[in-house]
Amino acid sequence: MAQTNHSPRRVGMFGGAFDPPHWAHRALAKTALDQLQLDVLHILPTGHAWHKSRVLSPAADRLAMCELAFGDLQNVQMDQREILRDGPSYTADTLIELHREYPQAQLFLVLGADQLLSFKSWVRWQEVLDLATLAVANRATNIGAGAPLDQATETDLSSVDLPFELLNMPLKNISATAVRAHVGQAAQRGAALDVLVPEPVARYISQHHLYQSPT
Ligand code: ATP
Repeated sequence: MAQTNHSPRRVGMFGGAFDPPHWAHRALAKTALDQLQLDVLHILPTGHAWHKSRVLSPAADRLAMCELAFGDLQNVQMDQREILRDGPSYTADTLIELHREYPQAQLFLVLGADQLLSFKSWVRWQEVLDLATLAVANRATNIGAGAPLDQATETDLSSVDLPFELLNMPLKNISATAVRAHVGQAAQRGAALDVLVPEPVARYISQHHLYQSPT
């Protein structure tokens, strides 16, 4: 768990539904910690995700799986504030709070290419840009339930007119949607889920019978 010094100078936030957290999330967190030399990376499972139409799994399950997926990474801090916040939760509000908590620090917002492409639809996105440096991992062009794991076409970010720092992470074409679909297909239930998620997360999914019906 978190091993922070007294006044962190480089602070990251990595938010997501994490329903469930998968290998690409973990790779993204590790890459951000290393490349950005973060003193601390807050992992924030979303509460009421305003931009997701699907009903998410219970926050307690997503939080528990995040502990299993990220908890052993040094300088990672599990952060429940978006889950505990009443009503819709916005990244701008979280960054304002982090800025208050770490007034001396440079803040980084860690995200994938799909989120960068839709960034200007975020609530108060200009405020987000004022508060944090965007740190972006590329993502395959074809994501979702049926996407091939080895698909390696990067999203073209050349026309994005926003400042961002590119994270050097090899493409991992995994999505939470694909994980849920994999578990939901009865024939695949016994099949190796740990190709998609860390083994303790796979075990949690199985023990708690998550994602048994398609979403
Ligand atoms: P879903 O399939 O349910 O939409 P997801 O796999 O996109 O979920 P989220 O929890 O929504 O997972 O993602 C959290 C963050 O991680 C987002 O910024 C997203 O862009 C990023 N991310 C998720 N998967 C990848 C991936 N394979 N490569 C790079 N970034 C990723």
